Parts: sequence; C-alpha cells; structure tokens
Amino acid sequence: MDFRLPPEVADARRRMRAFVEAELVPLEPDLPPFASALPPAAAGTLVGRLKAAGLWALAVPRAYGGGGLGLVGLCALREALGHTTAWSLARLLGTEPPILLYDAGEEQRRRYLLPAIRGERSGCFALTEPEAGSDAGAIALRAVPDGAGQYVLNGRKIFTSHADEADFALVFGVVPEAGAAGAGGITMFLVDMDTPGLRIVRRIETMGGDRPCELVFEDCRVPAAQRVGDPGDAFALAQKWFVCDRIALQPPICVGAAARCLALALREGVAVPGEAGLLAIRLAAVREMLYHAAWRADRGEDVRHEASLLKATATTLALEVTARVMDWFGPAGMGRALPVERYHRDLRRFTIAAGTFEIQQYIIARGLLRGHAGIDVL
Ligand SMILES: Cc1cc2nc3c(=O)[nH]c(=O)nc-3n(C[C@H](O)[C@H](O)[C@H](O)COP(=O)(O)OP(=O)(O)OC[C@H]3O[C@@H](n4cnc5c(N)ncnc54)[C@H](O)[C@@H]3O)c2cc1C
Repeated sequence: MDFRLPPEVADARRRMRAFVEAELVPLEPDLPPFASALPPAAAGTLVGRLKAAGLWALAVPRAYGGGGLGLVGLCALREALGHTTAWSLARLLGTEPPILLYDAGEEQRRRYLLPAIRGERSGCFALTEPEAGSDAGAIALRAVPDGAGQYVLNGRKIFTSHADEADFALVFGVVPEAGAAGAGGITMFLVDMDTPGLRIVRRIETMGGDRPCELVFEDCRVPAAQRVGDPGDAFALAQKWFVCDRIALQPPICVGAAARCLALALREGVAVPGEAGLLAIRLAAVREMLYHAAWRADRGEDVRHEASLLKATATTLALEVTARVMDWFGPAGMGRALPVERYHRDLRRFTIAAGTFEIQQYIIARGLLRGHAGIDVL
C-alpha cells in the first residue's frame, strides 16, 4: 500500500502552508478577537493573492472549474490553514466548497453553485431551529405549496452561521404533503437573503469569532424552481455535506492547530515532555485517520461511521492540546500575544456545530449495534 499523498496534493499543502505563513499569520494581531471577518478591501486583496498563488478552489471537481483534488486535497489545504488562527476566514478562501449544490438542477447551478465556486456569491446553511438541533428530524419550518408555482415558508432558524454575510440560504423545511415521501417531507430550498418575508432578527455573540444568526420566515414566498432535489430528499442530499464537514472541514483545522500549538510549546521549552509525547502520539493517529477517511470518501465508499469517529476524536484532541498548552505557558498562555487562547475559543464550536460530540458517540454506537460498522476490520 502506498500511504503517500499524491504529489499534487502534497504540493498544494506545501504551497498553502507557505501562503499561510506569508499572508495569514501576519494578519493575526489585527483580527478582531470576537469576530472572524476582514474589511471588504482586505478580504478582496487576500482572495486576489490566493488566486494568484494558484490555490483557489483546488478541491472543487474539474467539471465545475476547480482543481479536482477531492476530499484528500481539501484535508491537505485545510490542515495547512489550521496553522493560523485566521483559519476562520476559510469561507473566503475557496476552501469550503459548496458541496450541497453539486446536486442542484442546471439553473440552480448557474445561479448559485458556479458563482459560489468563483467566490462571487456565498451561502449559509439553515437547518437548526430553536426547538430542533440534534434531533433535526423535528424541525417545524413549514414550506407549503400555494398551487401557483411557489412555496410559502413560515418558521424560525437559529445559529445560522454567516447568514448576515450570505447572499442566499439553504433552508430546510417540511413540505407537509410530502411527509409520506420520506424523512417527514423535509426538503431543501435555495432562498435569496433579500427575499421578502425573510428577516435576520438576532446575531448571537459567542466566546469565539462566530456570530451565528436567528432568522424568521413569515409568508416568505420561494419559487418551486428554488427547491433542491425532490420533496423529502433533504437529509439524503445533506448527508454528503455532513460527511464532508465531519471529515474535511473540521478535523484538518484541528490537526493543523494542534500541531502548531504543540510545536510552539516545544520550541519555547514549556512543554511537559511526557504529556507532550502522549498528545503527539494521539495527533499522529488522528492525522492518519483523517487522510484514510478522506481517501475512502474519494473512492465513493460509505464513510459516515469514520466521519463521526474522526470528528469526535479530532475536535476533542484539539481542545485538549490548546488547553494543556495554555497551562504550560502559565498566565501568558491566556494572553493575546500567543495564538493559543484564540484557537481554544474558536475551536470550541467544533464539538457542537454539525452534530455534537454526544451525537457522534450515538451515531458510532448505532452503526456498531446495527452492524453497519464493525470494531474488527477483517
Ligand atoms: C458556533 C455555532 C455555529 C453553528 N452554525 C450552524 C449553522 O450554520 N447552521 C445550522 O443549521 N446550525 C448551526 N449550529 C447549530 C448546531 O448544529 C446545533 O447547536 C447542534 O446541532 C446542537 O443542537 P441544539 O443546539 O438544538 O442542542 P441540543 O440538541 O438541544 O443539545 C443540547 C445537549 O444535549 C445533548 N444531546 C442532545 N440529544 C442527545 C442524545 N440523543 N443523546 C445524548 N445527548 C444528547 C447534546 O449533545 C448537547 O450536549 C451552530 C452552532 C454553533 C455553536
């Protein structure tokens, strides 16, 4: 077996790391401590430089104008990005491909997917509701066909990241007539953020750079052509996104961040050697799991089980590493002169968003109990 990264992926990781050191690490002191945004002009400059460096959209399929490096490539790019606390700008940097829209219809691809890939329009993902998070099947937002070619949306969404910067939202709603079609009729819609009847009513301040929003839909009319897939299809379509998030979005950032913090502690001579050794062993194991799961996903295998294993392991390890490194530095560890406290605050989202740690444990156990996954791989 050849465990080496394909040369083009290894090269992309090296070049992204160089970009991180040259362009993003110097930005760290200027990033607001409780936000992950840049002034538009600075963001534009950064994107221009990233494109000029040939690092834009490398993990997007070639059919949509990307580099075709797949999930392995996305992991590599994002592992490099994890070496800066400015990783939270990832959505600006062509490293959050709009995977959910790969299944969209032709017109939707033209209006949403391709502009999103080019970085001209951005979307947000509106699933969670005040009364339905982990139990996403309990969402209550109604999408009722009006018999004249439109759906009428009524309900609320909460913790929708970047809704206040997005041009459109992918909204999950229940089409009551489609209940029998599967998954309680839960269906996905593309909704432009300026559609009448859709309002952002609150920005929720958090301990990190996240400021997710609460949205209200009141008689919000959406053309039937904005429905993605068939009624009742939403979770089947979203599965691909969850697997991508749990393998290629969250874990590689955790791996890069943990590596940077450990390296910093070792370099500064503050690391407790036995503990640092143990954390380094676990980090090496997570990195192997990461690329193995991504490689299997790129081969079209069902990796839902591995995605949960990885998310649960990588996200908790990163929090443990950042917490220990802060302790090793003493009070300075909490100071803003070092990147560690920022990592700790920003990475905290990963044990909650896209499925909590407990939900990953539940998915893993359910797979084992139902025989979809095994402890023994023989
Ligand atoms: C920073 C941030 C950004 C987010 N961005 C988005 C976004 O862009 N779009 C979006 O749709 N959502 C987003 N979310 C929401 C996130 O996905 C949900 O918060 C998460 O799925 C948990 O749902 P909940 O908030 O309803 O909590 P609950 O489901 O009420 O969970 C509360 C606690 O109970 C535990 N729990 C729940 N059910 C079980 C069970 N069966 N067994 C054991 N324990 C259980 C959970 O693990 C958790 O510890 C974001 C959240 C955060 C914090």
